[in-house]
Amino acid sequence: MPTRTATSDSTTPASVIRAERYRVRFDSPMQAALCAQIAGACRYVWNHMLADCQGRYRMWKAYRIGPRPSVSFFTLGQRFTELRHDPAHAWLKALPCAAVRYTLKYLADAYTRSFTIADAGLPHFKSRHRTTPGFTLPDNVRLDGTRLYIPKVGWVRLAGNQGRYLGCPAKQVRLLREGDERHPRWYAHVFHEVPADRVRPPAATGALGVDRNVGQATDSDGRVYAVPDTANLDANIKRKQRKADKARERSRRNGQPLSHRGRRICGQLSKLRRKQKRKRQSAAHRHSRRMADTAHTVVIEDLDTKAMTKSAKGTVEAPGRNVKQKAGLNREILKSNWGLLERQLAYKAGELVKVDPAYTSQTCAVCQHVDRANRKTQALFECTACGHTANADHNAAINILARGLTLVRPARGVGASARRGAFPSGTPTTREPGRRGDPPPARAGPSGPAPVPGVNSSV
Ligand SMILES: [Zn+2]
Repeated sequence: MPTRTATSDSTTPASVIRAERYRVRFDSPMQAALCAQIAGACRYVWNHMLADCQGRYRMWKAYRIGPRPSVSFFTLGQRFTELRHDPAHAWLKALPCAAVRYTLKYLADAYTRSFTIADAGLPHFKSRHRTTPGFTLPDNVRLDGTRLYIPKVGWVRLAGNQGRYLGCPAKQVRLLREGDERHPRWYAHVFHEVPADRVRPPAATGALGVDRNVGQATDSDGRVYAVPDTANLDANIKRKQRKADKARERSRRNGQPLSHRGRRICGQLSKLRRKQKRKRQSAAHRHSRRMADTAHTVVIEDLDTKAMTKSAKGTVEAPGRNVKQKAGLNREILKSNWGLLERQLAYKAGELVKVDPAYTSQTCAVCQHVDRANRKTQALFECTACGHTANADHNAAINILARGLTLVRPARGVGASARRGAFPSGTPTTREPGRRGDPPPARAGPSGPAPVPGVNSSV
C-alpha cells in the first residue's frame, strides 16, 4: 500500500532546527586534552551506569522485590548525582556536570528503543577503541559569533563552514572527535534554531519523480544524478585495509599491542574512509538540493534499504547462493546513499511522497502495459505492446511520478472528496488511464500544474 508522508506546507512553523558542522579550533592543546577528558568521562559514566542497571535488573529478576528497576533519564540522573558525590568519583566534579550527565539521556533512549523497537537490542558497553569520543552540551549554549563556550574548557573558535546560520540561537551542540588520539580533530555539530524565512524555500510548483538506482538516480525529466566516482579512493582504501589487516594479524600472533606502523596505517585508513563519507554526503546534499529546487513535490519509491542490503550468507545448514555477488550489490546500494538522499529530501523538498515500488521498472509509461520483457537491458526500455522506447530509468521515474500524483491531495475546490481529504485510490497499473479522470495536479500554482511528460500523452 503506498504511503504518504507528512507535509510541511499546511502548518508552517515559525522556526526550524538546522544542524551545521564546524571544525573546532582550540587556543591551546590543553583545551583539546580537556575535551578528550570530558568525552572519556562520558564513556566511563555510560559503562558504569549500564553495569549498575544490569546488576539491579539481575537482583530484581532473582528476588522480585519491588517494581522493575527504572532506567529513565530521571532515575539515571539521580544516580549520577550520587556518583558525583561519591569520594571515589571526586574527579567527576572537575568536569562539566550537564555534559557528562547527558550521556545518560542517550543510555535511557537506548533502553527505550530496545523495549519498543523489535530488532533494537539492549545497550552495549562502549569500548575505548571502538567509540567515537564525544559529548553534548545539552542546553544553555553560549555562542558568540564564531566562538563557542565549552564549560570548564573555555572559549573555542568555530571554523570551516560558511556559517549560514551563525547568529541564530543554538539549542544544542554535539562535539565529536575525528582522527586518532595523537592527531585529534574536533568537530562541533551545532543545532541552530533558524527562523523559517531564513531557510531556503523549495520550488513553489511542480512535481518530480525520482528513480533511485545502483550508482545513480534518474528523475522524470530525464536528468541523471550520478554517485561520485571514487574508484581511486576505493582502491586506496582496499589497499590500506589489507595492510591494516596484516598489521592486526601480526600483533595478534605476537601477543603484542598494535605496532606504531600498524597504528599509523589504521589512522590513514580512517582518514580515507572519512574522505569517502564526505564525498558521498556532499553528493547527496547537492542532488537533494537540485531536486528541491526543481519541483515542490518529489516522489520516490518506498524502498526498504535495510531489507534490500541484507546479507545472502544464510546459515550453516542452508547456505545462501551468490553470496559474493549479493555482497557486491549491497556495497553498491549502500554507496548510492539512498537513505541519506531520502532524509535530506524530507526537509528540503516542499513535499516528499513515497509510493509502492512494485513494477515501476516494468511498466510502460505510455500505455501502462506491464511485462518483464519490456525491460530489454539494464538501460533500455522497449514496450512489447506499443513499441515505446526510452531509457529504462527515465521510464521508471515517470511511472513513480504518476503514482505519486494519484496520492497527492488535489488542489482546493475540486469537490467534496477533496475537502474531506480523500485521494483517488489505486495505482496506474490497476487503473485504466483516463477512465476516472486524469491524475490531479500536484499543486495549482501561478504557473499551473507541472507538465508531466509521457503520463497523459496516450489519453
Ligand atoms: Zn507501451
